[in-house]
Amino acid sequence: MAYKYLFGPVPSRRLGISLGVDLVPFKTCTLNCVYCECGPTTYLTSERKEYVPFDEVMNELDDCLSLSPSLDFITFSGSGEPTLNIRIGDIIDLVKQKYPEYRIAVLTNGTLLSDVKLRDGLMKANLILPSLDATSEELFNKINRPCKEINAKDAVSGLIELRKEYSGEIWLEVFIIPELNDVPEEIHQLKSAIQEIKPDRIQLNTLDRPGSEKWVVPATKDGMEKIASYLGNAEIIADFSSRREVKSFDRSIEDAILSTTRRRPCTAADLSAILGLHINEVNKYIQALIESGSIKIDVQERGVFYSIKPASD
Ligand code: SF4
Repeated sequence: MAYKYLFGPVPSRRLGISLGVDLVPFKTCTLNCVYCECGPTTYLTSERKEYVPFDEVMNELDDCLSLSPSLDFITFSGSGEPTLNIRIGDIIDLVKQKYPEYRIAVLTNGTLLSDVKLRDGLMKANLILPSLDATSEELFNKINRPCKEINAKDAVSGLIELRKEYSGEIWLEVFIIPELNDVPEEIHQLKSAIQEIKPDRIQLNTLDRPGSEKWVVPATKDGMEKIASYLGNAEIIADFSSRREVKSFDRSIEDAILSTTRRRPCTAADLSAILGLHINEVNKYIQALIESGSIKIDVQERGVFYSIKPASD
């Protein structure tokens, strides 16, 4: 059965072997972050609805999980914000009821967590990984470019409420952009918010490769270490340099990406359409190919293009 809403299992930096479940069409999100690896948000909204049918997602999950695949997590993530799907809680509940042996993770930008119905729906997940990059409205607007109904204040209070009600683990991700959210007053405010949110882990991330906007550059290792130490017990998410050693790494997919980019430079979205793979899956392989020096990046007005790196480069 070819899946429309499931992807992977993919080797995930934080979650090990993860089966992805995508509950919104490409690319539906409450934010349009300047660093987004999936490219610009094409449908910016805060409306929660059944973007993809509950029954069809469950059919695919039944088909896949009945084979008892070896997974570290079933992860709700994908090409946008999964909590926009109003049935996410129903899907989590049913998967937990039918397949209690699997752990469930939810990757979310956290902007809808002030909605108590959403928080209720996430209670049976084992792990929630929200993001928070800025607490001042000005910087939140600059980095995360939300739809008009979303603001930083509500996002922070939603996270605080979640912590009070949810007994599973919360790993909070902060994406560092030099000269924006690494300046002292912003980091200070962020630290105060994090002290109220009380996540189990704070994970610092920065740009691996070009995101939506050309001007976004990665933070240095030294800069990240200083922020980690200021925030207290923050960890820097390490490069997944051993991605190719993971058992779910599929060399035929790697070969297909190499042969396609040999013919012409492609964006991640092009590769996703040409190869019939989920964009998140394509992104994992692209990262491994960049790390191994096999492909190169070219940032153009139309997006980020990948092509084979000539032997002399
Ligand atoms: S990084 Fe996440 S939250 Fe930001 S635009 Fe992309 S999918 Fe949405």
